[in-house]
Amino acid sequence: MKEHVVVVGAGQMGNGIAHVFAQAGFPVTMVDVSSEVLARARATIEKNLARQVEKGVIDAAAREAALARLSVSSDLGAASKCALVIEAASESPDLKFKLFAELDGIAPADAILATNTSSISITQIAGRTRRPDRVIGMHFMNPVPVMVLVEVIRGLATSDETTQNVMSYAKAVGKRAVEVNDAPGFVSNRVLMPMINEAAYCVMEGVATPEAVDSVMKLGMNHPMGPLALADLIGLDTCVAILDVLQDGLGDPKYRACPLLKKYVAAGWLGRKSGRGFYTY
Ligand code: NAD
Repeated sequence: MKEHVVVVGAGQMGNGIAHVFAQAGFPVTMVDVSSEVLARARATIEKNLARQVEKGVIDAAAREAALARLSVSSDLGAASKCALVIEAASESPDLKFKLFAELDGIAPADAILATNTSSISITQIAGRTRRPDRVIGMHFMNPVPVMVLVEVIRGLATSDETTQNVMSYAKAVGKRAVEVNDAPGFVSNRVLMPMINEAAYCVMEGVATPEAVDSVMKLGMNHPMGPLALADLIGLDTCVAILDVLQDGLGDPKYRACPLLKKYVAAGWLGRKSGRGFYTY
């Protein structure tokens, strides 16, 4: 039997992470504060596994086995016997600081505490625990079952052993890990978010419609998806939160979130997950 993995936060990323670990043979428990989210997460995984069966990626027995390895809980205490925690709760520094302080007291002393944060400092999160050598960033991409990259982010005190173990876990779930150091937005969002932000400014200033902006980037730059469709997929609230971290952490106003992005978030237009963002779903 493989090691027990606990995924904290069962939103769009958490359920994808739980899916790939369960499929790869790990017993997985998803923890969330909302029982509705937990029910939806399980249903999403069932549906996505069924699609993989239809496409011939896995067989029906593998689907059933993956589902049998999956449990849900509304209690963080579920982390008391695991080897690896992957936190994928909302992108809020205070929330993550609190969760890591709690998890440090619950998880076994030798367990690795990983975070799927898109931008928050791994070093700061690790500082809330007594095991900063065992805290690391494990940044999966959306949608997790499809995207191959895991950006592995070393905090200042993350040990070589922890990094190697996390690289092995990434490989075990069929991903390719790339190691980077801790800095605001790491590599992925330091490069991606300014592009999304600039695309939002183009719409706000009437330079072009969302469709036109996305078409320019798809047809002209060979991007498989335009930046605004991607922003809707990521979640506009998450995009604003990441831009705030970039601006605070790097101290440069060039990262300030476009007012149109903030306006959409204030209106509850969060992208795909709420049914409306730059596009309607
Ligand atoms: P989401 O809003 O879909 O899910 C977040 C979940 O966290 C919610 O279900 C919420 O109920 C839960 N939660 C909040 N407080 C909690 C607590 N105290 N304990 C347990 N669960 C709690 O968000 P998401 O898009 O899945 O993002 C999750 C994390 O993954 C964020 O850190 C985000 O930056 C990161 N991330 C997101 C993407 C993306 O494309 N959306 C990509 C990579 C990384």
